[in-house]
Amino acid sequence: TFTLTGMTPQPSPEAGAAVKAADRAHVFHSWSAQDLIDPLAVAGAEGSYFWDYDGTRYLDFTSGLVFTNIGYQHPKVVAAIQEQAAKLTTFAPAFAVEARSEAARLIAERTPGDLDKIFFTNGGADAVEHAVRMARLHTGRPKVLAAYRSYHGGTQQAINITGDPRRWANDSATNGVVHFWAPFLYRSRFYAETEEQECARALEHLETTIAFEGPGTIAAIILETVPGTAGIMVPPPGYLAGVRKLCDKYGIVFVLDEVMAGFGRTGEWFAADLFGVTPDLMTFAKGVNSGYVPLGGVALSQKIADTFGKRPYPGGLTYSGHPLACAAAVATINVMAQEGVVENAKRLGETVLGPGLAELAARHPSVGEVRGVGMFWALELVKDRETREPLVPYNAAGEANAPMAAFAAAAKKNGLWPFVNMNRTHVVPPCNATEAELKAGLAALDAALSVADEHT
Ligand code: PMP
Repeated sequence: TFTLTGMTPQPSPEAGAAVKAADRAHVFHSWSAQDLIDPLAVAGAEGSYFWDYDGTRYLDFTSGLVFTNIGYQHPKVVAAIQEQAAKLTTFAPAFAVEARSEAARLIAERTPGDLDKIFFTNGGADAVEHAVRMARLHTGRPKVLAAYRSYHGGTQQAINITGDPRRWANDSATNGVVHFWAPFLYRSRFYAETEEQECARALEHLETTIAFEGPGTIAAIILETVPGTAGIMVPPPGYLAGVRKLCDKYGIVFVLDEVMAGFGRTGEWFAADLFGVTPDLMTFAKGVNSGYVPLGGVALSQKIADTFGKRPYPGGLTYSGHPLACAAAVATINVMAQEGVVENAKRLGETVLGPGLAELAARHPSVGEVRGVGMFWALELVKDRETREPLVPYNAAGEANAPMAAFAAAAKKNGLWPFVNMNRTHVVPPCNATEAELKAGLAALDAALSVADEHT
């Protein structure tokens, strides 16, 4: 690991004002009402921290959008990008290029089972698009089953597959997607009281859905191994193995989306390793190179890859396996292996972050549930622990969210940048965060939860 050497570039309020003014004049931001946002101008970042132009420094418990798994500006990855830029900045995808070959080899070495062929994309959503296309072409079937509480990306098919309300404005009636309920005991759709009941009933519901939709019409079941954006719901033991069995029984392609959960986030290289399950296709992005250069991909099993042995795969991207992005992936994976980043996430998740969050929950009435694994946790904030009524309106329609805004402001005042989504805060620090950083973050969360408690 490396330590913060100081704020370079140096913060300057005047420079910050210019950055902010140009942003407000010309940058159109994602998922936002353009007139209602006030983005912070960021001057620099290093390790687990970033800072603004006033010199205020924040501990980043969001890892960007859950992608800086080795923190910001890791010197070995920055150097690898610079070296690749000097050697061969770009090249078309139909050639064998050293950085691309090596990235594919290192990824295939770590993916479960025989997921040994790598199709590169520029991010997570296009990985999902291609995984679904591969499944449809492999099976010759049209439909995709996906979970309601899910996020799979912002492109057209990926947002149709997504289960959260952002889908509504983008939906079309002919997208071939059918949604089902995955397990989530805290807000069970199955009137379950135990994990065993939740698991068994969720599997029965899925099999019933398959039967009523017609098994011969279903190309793929896609699930996030651990749903992230929707609230970090670690599935009960046996659920994913059960889905695997259903896929085998009905000839359905099993797609696991590891865009957020992969590359160390859960304390394993892939979250599928937590459950000993191997899908037929697995998507990845974010942590593959800590988001330093856009990169994602699909890992294909031999069975799916063989479909396109003699018959061409009808899909591709200009920047598939971009050398700069792949060089960043090679360096990131090597850093993770050499510096024990995955082990760090597992160990500190078990010994510091998990217990620390449980201890906060015991003292703060606003915390309804703590759940997670590794460096992948969520606190579900409630008005009332008995009724489990969420601390804010339980929707994503952009309604005023005063309690969560007050919580976030208090965290920031205490030097912590929190991840807030509806009535939850997701605790997702870099996977190489130190024990001291985690403890500092827990102390700031403690103070912020006292503000949330005032709304219970
Ligand atoms: N799948 C999952 C599980 C994700 O978490 C995300 C992004 N949050 C995506 C897909 C989409 O990735 P991207 O934003 O890189 O397109």
